[in-house]
Amino acid sequence: MDRSLQGKVVLVTGASSGIGEATALALSEAGANVAVGARRADRLADLEKRAPGEVLTLDLDVTDEQSTRAAVSATVERFGGLDVLVNNAGLMLNGSILGADTTEWARMVHTNLLGTMYTTHAALPHLLQRKGTVVQISSTSGRQASAGGGVYAATKFGVNAFSEALRKEVTTRGVRVVVIEPGMVATELLSHLTDPTMQAAARDMMSAMRLLQSADIAKAVLYAISQPEHVAVNEILIRPTDQA
Ligand code: NDP
Repeated sequence: MDRSLQGKVVLVTGASSGIGEATALALSEAGANVAVGARRADRLADLEKRAPGEVLTLDLDVTDEQSTRAAVSATVERFGGLDVLVNNAGLMLNGSILGADTTEWARMVHTNLLGTMYTTHAALPHLLQRKGTVVQISSTSGRQASAGGGVYAATKFGVNAFSEALRKEVTTRGVRVVVIEPGMVATELLSHLTDPTMQAAARDMMSAMRLLQSADIAKAVLYAISQPEHVAVNEILIRPTDQA
């Protein structure tokens, strides 16, 4: 069994489903003490029961800066420090720009972009102390934008830009920054779509290919954070083989 993270402390945002949940479980299996944050407390309680290691469940809304600060503080208080932050919380509400419900734009920017920034800001002093790692769950949409995905892509391009600046600021102080860019993964992400055209397009794409599973992304996270200190895996692009 891989126990490469024995004694390490990890905070995963958006761990109540999908990629975050799978990552929290994989890192727990690898020996980490894992703090898991999200808004659905029942799902986190269930995760805590299934994880083999120590788990701290946190009521976390990443759009609320105070909530991100409280989550980081509670993690450090419980486990004595922080080695890895996985910024995973996110949502995708795709639709055309013309006629869009702009409250959906604000939700994506607040969650995917500002949420990632707030949590990173709160965690960074602790990560500097331990020469830790920030893992950003970005997307292929952080590298290319498609029609209907303009705002989601803007948030993920933003995450990538923020991450590259952060890397330049902290890498020589021992903090590594990893950007993971998944293609389509079978999770609840698409279930939040409200635009019927986007819902139909998503259904078509999903039935036309073998999707990635959340565990595939969790493995990429584990790979990146298990490297020796002098190795910085800065970016992993991972798509379903069937995704052209
Ligand atoms: P899910 O919908 O399954 O998971 C999203 C997670 O984010 C949930 O745990 C949800 O928890 C959490 N979340 C949403 N809003 C907030 C908030 N305000 N505060 C705290 N947590 C929040 O989707 P995925 O697992 O697919 O998504 C995880 C990440 O992966 C996202 O950043 C997404 O953009 C990215 N991604 C996904 C891809 C895919 O194809 N599925 C492809 C590329 C990237 P709760 O609602 O309980 O708060």
